[in-house]
Amino acid sequence: MTRHAFRGKRWEGHPAGTSVCGVLCAMAEPNELDWFQAPTCRDCTDVLIAEQDVARHGEGGE
Ligand SMILES: [Zn+2]
Repeated sequence: MTRHAFRGKRWEGHPAGTSVCGVLCAMAEPNELDWFQAPTCRDCTDVLIAEQDVARHGEGGE
């Protein structure tokens, strides 16, 4: 399995959700060991990095 990133400050008990990269998947229990051992989704990471880049450089200040 792959560990996707999700929007929102915290998990509120929803059984499923849409990840940052747009995949609808079941939400894992936070204490599932497999979840923490799973590799982080590359697509989710890329999207979050790109958004941070926009937040940092997207104001048009330079
Ligand atoms: Zn993902």
